[in-house]
Amino acid sequence: MHQDPECLFCKIVNKEIPSEVVFEDDKVVAFKDIDPQAPVHIVIVPKEHFNNIIEAQDNNDYLNGLLNAAVKVAKDQNLDDGFRLVINTGKEGGQTVEHLHLHLLGGRNMQWPPG
Ligand code: AMP
Ligand code: ZN
Repeated sequence: MHQDPECLFCKIVNKEIPSEVVFEDDKVVAFKDIDPQAPVHIVIVPKEHFNNIIEAQDNNDYLNGLLNAAVKVAKDQNLDDGFRLVINTGKEGGQTVEHLHLHLLGGRNMQWPPG
């Protein structure tokens, strides 16, 4: 499995950096965001390193794993009134950590457009 030893989220996947894990399987890890933007803010990452979703194209095991984990965690977190899934990509997309990740946000009303 490809990883980047310098990557923050690879280090979280490998438990070299602590995080509050809420879900894990063979493909993904889901953990609490360190700077939450909503009452529930979970980051879901593939265990393999991809810089962004463009690099992960066609890796359907990982892409499905991210989405299915998000729905499972949303149910576990009782987000019955709704939630938002976000994948920031690249500079204009606001991506700050270059390891593909899916944000799960919930517990408050979301705004649109997101800004
Ligand atoms: P993005 O801006 O889409 O690249 O998202 C990166 C997210 O990772 C931000 O919401 C950060 O708050 C979050 N983050 C950065 N470092 C950590 C960490 N050590 N543990 C948990 N979340 C982190
Ligand atoms: Zn990584």
